[in-house]
This record gives sequence, structure tokens and C-alpha cells, in this order.
Amino acid sequence: MKCGYHPEVDAVASCVNCGKGVCILCKTLLGEKIYCQPCADAIFVKPAERRVAERPVEGRVSGAWWLMPIFLTWLGGLIAWLVNKDTDPRTARNMLILGIVLTAAWILLWVVWAACVAVFAAPY
Ligand SMILES: [Zn+2]
Ligand SMILES: [Zn+2]
Repeated sequence: MKCGYHPEVDAVASCVNCGKGVCILCKTLLGEKIYCQPCADAIFVKPAERRVAERPVEGRVSGAWWLMPIFLTWLGGLIAWLVNKDTDPRTARNMLILGIVLTAAWILLWVVWAACVAVFAAPY
């Protein structure tokens, strides 16, 4: 028997799905069974691809958006959230939260700094 995809090559086995001969190159082992390449793709690769495509486009948000809340605090977080909330609601919300947290941290830092200046710069 010849390979169903390489007519000049001898088959080493046959596909359990379509029965075509498969050569050493086309032979694909899935579990204990031998499949030809197209059958293996149809059974395993394609459903996996479909699952990825069906998933909400989560994780497609560019990591560069994280710079927005970091540099612009609450404003950047708000912008990042507005732009990305439809694409990836969870990441967008985290960016907004990061922006708010950083804003709070900045305010705290300024209050502490102002307090230190007030104490140390006292004229007496
Ligand atoms: Zn096959
Ligand atoms: Zn082949």
C-alpha cells in the first residue's frame, strides 16, 4: 500500500479514520491510534482553534495600555478602561483599579511629603 498523500512512498500504516495509507511523514499518533495528517487536524487542531476563536477576545488587550494608569494614574486608568472594556472587561477594570490605587498612593505620598516639609521647614 502507498501513502494516500505521497503516492511514491510506501505506507507504514493506515489511518483509523479514513483508511488511507500513511507514510512515516504523514503518520500522526493520537493516543494509541494512527491518523493521517488531515484527519488528525480535523479531529484535534480544528476544534482547539474553534475553541480559541469562540472565547471572548480576552487577553487581546495590548500590554502597553498598562502604561496609561501608571503614568496618568486615574485619568489613564479611565481612558484604558473606556477603550478596552468591550475587548477585555476584566483587564480593563484592573487598569481602572490600578489607576485609582496609584492616584491614592500619589495623594498619600504628597500628604506625607507636605507634612515632612511642614515639620522640617518650620522656622524655629
Ligand atoms: Zn485519515
Ligand atoms: Zn505521506
